[in-house]
Amino acid sequence: MTTHLLLDEVPNPDRYDGGQGIAQEQADRLEEMGFTDHWLRCRCHHLVIQHGRFYSEDSYPDPELFATAGMLVRRFNPDYMLVHPMGVDDTGHKYGADSSKYRVHAMRQGMMLADLIPEWMERGYNILVTGDHGMNADKVHGTTTSEVREVPLFMIRPGVPGRGDTNEVISQLQLAPTICNLLGVPIPETMKHPPIV
Ligand SMILES: [Zn+2]
Repeated sequence: MTTHLLLDEVPNPDRYDGGQGIAQEQADRLEEMGFTDHWLRCRCHHLVIQHGRFYSEDSYPDPELFATAGMLVRRFNPDYMLVHPMGVDDTGHKYGADSSKYRVHAMRQGMMLADLIPEWMERGYNILVTGDHGMNADKVHGTTTSEVREVPLFMIRPGVPGRGDTNEVISQLQLAPTICNLLGVPIPETMKHPPIV
């Protein structure tokens, strides 16, 4: 989603070289594919992720993850940070989307974000909250039905009045060029979908 590539085009991101970034062969593959722009290279071995915390268990607690994100922002003031909690997904696989446990977990995640977002806005961050997929009542995702393909996107921009629920539908492939614009870095030619801001 943040590389604007379709899933089958993305080099396997599961293999990290000791938590320092994508392994060299994956970095080479990205370069072969023409990704030389700054922020993508930040994910690669050449320009490793400067400050990150990685986890491997789906049951890694969301409160710990969000606390770490808050700490990383306070300590390092990064230009870009990706926070990827697994808790809602994990709960969905265990209990299904049509369960109180799933709904309560999503609500709790909103409360965790509510503790952090005002601080991040004060620090001047643009905040995008979305999901890479949904979940269905059968406890899976990855199919083509709307409940697993359609996810909300919240954009919170300091100094920009909110527009409420616009009902607009955008492609996930628009997120990467949007993030480029927000970071003030050029949009690579390979990103064909228009940014939303
Ligand atoms: Zn999953």
